[in-house]
Amino acid sequence: MKEYGEPCEKFKDYYPVNLEQVKEKFGGLRFYYNGGDDHVAGLVDMAEEMSYKICERCGNPGKPNKVGWIRTLCDKCMLRDTL
Ligand SMILES: [Zn+2]
Repeated sequence: MKEYGEPCEKFKDYYPVNLEQVKEKFGGLRFYYNGGDDHVAGLVDMAEEMSYKICERCGNPGKPNKVGWIRTLCDKCMLRDTL
C-alpha cells in the first residue's frame, strides 16, 4: 500500500499535486492547489480558461450570463432557465 501523495513507479518523474479547493467565480472555476510543475500549472490555466466557455450543464459551447448569479451556460440551457 502506497502512502497518499507518493508517486507510483509509472509517474515517478511527476510532482505530486495536492488539490485544496475548487471554487466557482464569475461563472468559471478557480483551482487552489499545491505542488505540481509547469505542466500542471498549464493544465490548470487551460481548465480555468475553458470553464468560462463551456456550458456547466450540458458541455456545449457557452458563455457567462450577465445578470444575477453568474453561470456559464449555452443558449439552450440559458433559455430553459428563464422560462
Ligand atoms: Zn447547455
